[in-house]
Amino acid sequence: MSLFDQPAFDAHEQVVFCHDQLTGLKAIIAIHDTRLGPATGGCRMWDYATEAEAINDVLRLAKGMTYKNAMANLPMGGGKAVIIGNSKRDKTPELMHAFGRHIERLGGRYVSAEDVGISPQDMAEAATQTAHIAGLEGKSGDPSPYTAYGTFLGIQAALKHQTGHESLAGKRVAVQGVGHVGYHLCRHLHQAGARLIVTDINQDALSRAAQEFSATVVESDSIYDQDVDIYAPCALGATINDNTLSRLKASIIAGAANNQLATEAHDLILKQRGILYAPDYVINAGGIINVSYENAYDASASKQQVEGIYQTLTDVFDTANNQDLPTGKVAASFAQQRLNAA
Ligand code: NAD
Repeated sequence: MSLFDQPAFDAHEQVVFCHDQLTGLKAIIAIHDTRLGPATGGCRMWDYATEAEAINDVLRLAKGMTYKNAMANLPMGGGKAVIIGNSKRDKTPELMHAFGRHIERLGGRYVSAEDVGISPQDMAEAATQTAHIAGLEGKSGDPSPYTAYGTFLGIQAALKHQTGHESLAGKRVAVQGVGHVGYHLCRHLHQAGARLIVTDINQDALSRAAQEFSATVVESDSIYDQDVDIYAPCALGATINDNTLSRLKASIIAGAANNQLATEAHDLILKQRGILYAPDYVINAGGIINVSYENAYDASASKQQVEGIYQTLTDVFDTANNQDLPTGKVAASFAQQRLNAA
């Protein structure tokens, strides 16, 4: 298998395969672009079926971080890491230490944080071995509530663009994944009067959402068949694909998950079907924006910048409309312009 021929390879600057014999760590760090600053992006731990799947994931996620940081006007490049393994079974403090040592060897070119399967506590373990960890307790803390807040505002921006008003009262929203981000997003949506339909593979997370937000629980796969106004993917990526597209009834797709589209072609298909898509790396930038403030934390400046996601998305939607282009294509061209200017 050639790395450079992978469809997801996009001139990534550096891809590092990390191994530690003692702990069994197998990780991949992908640094996509450092023109705007150190490659910054979380670490995901997932039980990938194959190594190729892990490589594809880390390459796509790292590129997404480049675009996300550029769109949020942050002095950061794009990178991401994946640890191959089951986060419930294989994760130990020693494994996280080994991962931290690999980050340290990159000398600050890559800055890590948590992502799916990795908690702030896990990152605190890694941080015993390296200075290049963001989003730790006592600094800017868990980014998830900020990601959720930005996503909520992005949903409002999408509604405003499509219907002329942003009220969520009575709107039906399908939230796929009620983990760190999905839970807080449900809270905002519930407070705004939305009717929630939720799914997750974690029963405890589901029960909590059902109880606290009067959410209707559905089986994992049937989330795509729900008669809803908005579909908010907040679990893993590639949920908008050839199998799910024909089932979706929502006229807006706006959620926090990274890499929501299985391929770039789905961007155009969504436009053709009249579905307004909020590009994932624009709507889910709230967490990384908050992290960017952590060395001189200023809660109100951070909140204000997270709130800028509403306008950024509105600009993307308006340009897409005016130029008759899919929203993902417009966002990518905005991000490229910022990168080229650097
Ligand atoms: P998380 O692991 O806390 O939550 C993900 C949830 O999805 C879990 O509860 C998990 O059980 C559930 N899930 C997994 N597979 C599922 C399936 N097939 N069907 C339904 N539910 C499923 O992760 P998170 O931090 O909440 O992140 C969620 C998504 O948002 C990820 O794609 C992540 O990359 C992205 N994201 C997170 C942040 C952040 O601040 N945490 C920032 C930007 C983007």
